[in-house]
Amino acid sequence: LRFHELGLDDRVLKAIADLGWIKPTLIQEKAIPLALEGKDLLARARTGSGKTAAYSIPVIQNLLQSKMSVSEQAVRVLILVPTKELGQQVQQMIRQLTSYCVRDIRVADISGHADISAQRPILMEKPDIVVGTPSRVLCHMNQQTLCVRDTLQALIIDEADLIFSFGFEEDLKNLLCQLPKIFQSFLMSATFNEDIKTLKGLVLHNPVTLRL
Ligand code: AMP
Repeated sequence: LRFHELGLDDRVLKAIADLGWIKPTLIQEKAIPLALEGKDLLARARTGSGKTAAYSIPVIQNLLQSKMSVSEQAVRVLILVPTKELGQQVQQMIRQLTSYCVRDIRVADISGHADISAQRPILMEKPDIVVGTPSRVLCHMNQQTLCVRDTLQALIIDEADLIFSFGFEEDLKNLLCQLPKIFQSFLMSATFNEDIKTLKGLVLHNPVTLRL
């Protein structure tokens, strides 16, 4: 399978070509079509498998499509990560994949230790995609600098197996209360443990499980 067989926007295909990627990795080949169909996904995927692009590509594609019908700029995708290092990597990957549609798709990473008030102006611009740790995202929701109750289309939890062990369980549960009733969800995890079972029950609806 080649990227151009996945029905992706030309601008995304061009960005993929610039990255020098010849074909989708296994996880991308499986996950992208399912995600484009709107399925929830639970994927076992380690770093190095191409997991970041496996969820970023369909997220970008779906945003490009839905933006044609909505006029208002809003946060439509939340990507939760356990560490600021991963947050930076995810933002960088999305920037690369959206290099030909920077005006249409904007991403902001709020996972860092930057001052909360310094992040306010960034969120006021309503980036389409917000990347952050559960604590920082919840903090902004509580301060009403971030609200996705009426606009969220997709929630991704990357390195989901680390979310609880890094102490984000309470914050994550509180954050989930501030999301709308319906949205697409992906859980990406290196291992399937008890925490993942709990998370699955909390965020996924009839998911397709990919054990690669
Ligand atoms: P990840 O598993 O998301 O941390 O990605 C690991 C590395 O694989 C990153 O440096 C990506 O840029 C790279 N990568 C992702 N998808 C592909 C692909 N289809 N072909 C070649 N390299 C890729």
